Amino acid sequence: MKIFISADMEGATGVVRGVQTDHREKEYEFGCRMMLHDVKAVIRGALDAGAERVLVNDSHWRMINLDIAAFGFGERVSLISGSPKALCMVEGFDTADAAFFVGYHAKAGTANATIDHTISGSVVYSITLNGKELGETGLNAAVCAQRGVPLALVTGDAAVCAEASALLGDGLVTACVKTARGRESAECLLPETSDQVLDEAAKEAVRRARARKSPVMDIGSGAFDLRIAFHNSKQCDEAAILPGIERLDGRTVRATGRDMETMMRMALSLISLAGS
Ligand SMILES: [Zn+2]
Repeated sequence: MKIFISADMEGATGVVRGVQTDHREKEYEFGCRMMLHDVKAVIRGALDAGAERVLVNDSHWRMINLDIAAFGFGERVSLISGSPKALCMVEGFDTADAAFFVGYHAKAGTANATIDHTISGSVVYSITLNGKELGETGLNAAVCAQRGVPLALVTGDAAVCAEASALLGDGLVTACVKTARGRESAECLLPETSDQVLDEAAKEAVRRARARKSPVMDIGSGAFDLRIAFHNSKQCDEAAILPGIERLDGRTVRATGRDMETMMRMALSLISLAGS
């Protein structure tokens, strides 16, 4: 069994404020340390439960946060580091038997959710796919789903665990390492505790994936209507220049298609344009 791990930082143990996830700030070193802590706990659990291969994709911001020299698992584990990459947070998922989303956060606009945002906090107000508002968990799970790759584990704060369970149902294993008391404050497990929680959750996720009980997100018939609302009309002006894009109102564009990977690449391109 091969496990793909998409690793973000905002949902890591002890990370509560944006400065801890920002490479321009001195607190970033803590964010990197805790992201690595959570990723290593999950890898260890997956390998102990019998996974033969683990591919980790560094999925936060510049995507060079994880210190490969500190991994230490040998040839069964490899790391995709750096950016840009066409599928962003799920680059490399396609050869895996199951996906884990580690250190994830809730979608933009969620109350009591650590550093809630969707892809770009300064650009994206909301994203809907076929009428349903999705965050990074839902969008990335939809990309995996088109190729039949199940999502077996989501880790992060209580809000992202609830968001993921609502999307994917009881078959999904979630591991909560903190409960937000606002966007930038949370009650956190200590690292020695979350280490065990994450290890156990990864083991259970591998067991369920092997038993084919991990959920594949329902993405319907395969005709996609993707809408992105930006924070302001100037951002929408930039995005709406792209040919084939329909502008719906001052801040919203729509893209349609039949391939989820293309929809994801379209979303990433629109957000990049809008943020330029
Ligand atoms: Zn991130």
